[in-house]
Amino acid sequence: MQEFDLIARIRARVLSRSETARDDVIVGIGDDAALLSMPAGKQLVVAMDTLNAGVHFPVDTAPRDIGWKALAVNVSDLAAMAAEPAWCTLSLSLPDAEAFAREVFVDGFLDGFLALAAQHRIALIGGDTTRGPLSISVTVHGFVAPGGALRRDAARVHDDVWVTGTLGDAAAALLEWQEGRMRSARLRARLDTPTPRIAAGRALAGIAHACIDISDGLAADLAHVCRASGVGAEILLDALPASQALCEGFAGSVLRELQTCGGDDYELCFTAPITARLAVEDAMSLCDVPVTRIGCITGNRDEMVFRDSDGNAWLPPRQGYVHFS
Ligand code: ADP
Ligand code: MG
Repeated sequence: MQEFDLIARIRARVLSRSETARDDVIVGIGDDAALLSMPAGKQLVVAMDTLNAGVHFPVDTAPRDIGWKALAVNVSDLAAMAAEPAWCTLSLSLPDAEAFAREVFVDGFLDGFLALAAQHRIALIGGDTTRGPLSISVTVHGFVAPGGALRRDAARVHDDVWVTGTLGDAAAALLEWQEGRMRSARLRARLDTPTPRIAAGRALAGIAHACIDISDGLAADLAHVCRASGVGAEILLDALPASQALCEGFAGSVLRELQTCGGDDYELCFTAPITARLAVEDAMSLCDVPVTRIGCITGNRDEMVFRDSDGNAWLPPRQGYVHFS
């Protein structure tokens, strides 16, 4: 199947789903570029993320799950900015190998991609289709009210530090896969089909100070917030939320490492003033998202301390996933 047949296939799939049709898309797939209408008085939020086979997903991942994840990791960046998603573009690099059926891959990929797009009413407005190693780049666009975005550089000393959901599941699934041991389907689902926290992010606008999504691990991502904000953080290890599936398979120092250094959870980590505790809990329960207070922001610039139940400092064995290291 040629490039233009594939694009026609993608376009037909997009047009067949009414949930992703939007009035603000004047011209979508089919022209040299998309033509879009910006809502009055909103700021545009743009994010881009790439998934490479074998780097960002295990090579045995189903095309449907790759499609879901390719959009999910991008939508998660919008969630962390408290944005309302609107549009996306998709760059597909597909192998030219005998064994690789491009149309079969694209069909499965779109099942997952468009299922998530439909959930958030995101229109696929264009992209690029090329030959090469399996790689997927997605750009997402969303809106915020002026000044309403949650940024990394807004944490303040004495803020509480919170996380949504649970930590460590995705990394645990990856570890199980790498070690070839008994695999938990619940953990693998957290790795393959993460849930971007759009409702939670939007509900936190006006309540939270700083926010980031956890893609590289709590230690690494909270360190970004600390650096950008010129503050430090103190985190209580015993407070870190763990799923039942994680606790059934892991304990002790491995559990700690998964929760602090494991990436790919796509939960939100945010800071908020102590006076906003009730507001945070109410906002999160309204959107049905579990939330846990895990520590506080300190004035010790760039210093992140994890403490065990005895109050002793514990150093994470590694920072998180870093490319080119
Ligand atoms: P051009 O040569 O002008 O860049 P293309 O042939 O690459 O145009 O693309 C034709 C149309 O199909 C454009 O609207 C483009 O955005 C869209 N398109 C191409 N690849 C994809 C894709 N993978 N997903 C969605 N839209 C795509
Ligand atoms: Mg092109």
